[in-house]
Amino acid sequence: MRLLQGPKRTWLAGLTALALLALWAWINLPVSEVLRGSTRVAALPALPAFTAGQRVLLLSPHPDDETLCCAGLIQQATQAGTAVYIAWMTAGDGFEFDAALTQKVLLPRAQNMRRLGNTRAAEARAAATVLGVPAAHTFMLGYPDGGLFRLFTTNYDQPYTAPHTRANRVYAQGALSPGRPFTGRNLEADISRVLDDVRPDLVLAPAPQDFHPDHHTLSYIALRLMSQRAQQGRLRYWVVHGGLEWPLPKALHESLPLTLPPLARQLPWLRADLTPEQERVKLQAVNTYRTQTEVMGRFMRAFVRRNELLSPDPLPPTGSPRQP
Ligand SMILES: [Zn+2]
Repeated sequence: MRLLQGPKRTWLAGLTALALLALWAWINLPVSEVLRGSTRVAALPALPAFTAGQRVLLLSPHPDDETLCCAGLIQQATQAGTAVYIAWMTAGDGFEFDAALTQKVLLPRAQNMRRLGNTRAAEARAAATVLGVPAAHTFMLGYPDGGLFRLFTTNYDQPYTAPHTRANRVYAQGALSPGRPFTGRNLEADISRVLDDVRPDLVLAPAPQDFHPDHHTLSYIALRLMSQRAQQGRLRYWVVHGGLEWPLPKALHESLPLTLPPLARQLPWLRADLTPEQERVKLQAVNTYRTQTEVMGRFMRAFVRRNELLSPDPLPPTGSPRQP
């Protein structure tokens, strides 16, 4: 094969540089917001205000999801006199690169991963405090990060051993049911216990379109448990992993709106506007997750925007042109 001649090579290098520059701009500059999105968000109906005496439960797959999706909503609720509760399904102990970086080990072992789980559980409680949710209103369930789909399917009754921590039962400090084997049935029993305890008027859960398996699995579980109680109408849905690098641009852009997540664009979204003070506190809560921000701070801070989004329905209206 002949090597490319001089002018051809220059052209190719120029085109490659241009493509890389376009990709960088797409990820880092408000290109997508200018092209689309902002106007649709501005036209969304406002989320009804929270009221005193209401009880809200946030179901969070991992430590940090509650802050990314809903830190502004949590503040608005507590400021209105609504009692807010947060339940974390996992301690976030499945992210090996995170353990390697924050604990400065090349190949994290099971003990490193469990340590990461306990650190993240502590960060979650600290973030809740920043958002005005007292420790007594928080529940760490401590099921395996990355394992919820297994629990929902093949390991509903058969205990699951998490590959990262080598744990097959709840070990996280301060967990709701210490020592309980990792099965789907036990996870559902713990969530049911929280529901019985809290008796929520509203439950904020991931939408089924969220592409992280722990997130959409929790969506299915929440739908099933709330339907069994004939309370499906109390569910409200949010998205954190919304597809196509959403939210763009990455990093902190607190004056931009949070646009619709591409994977769940058809949901009947409602918009909650944040005050600058609520955005400041949201950023503070994000920064509480030191183990996470070291690895993906630009993704996390991109959620600190002028608004948050919540859908009253898990699916688009029937007859909508594009189902997820
Ligand atoms: Zn998550």
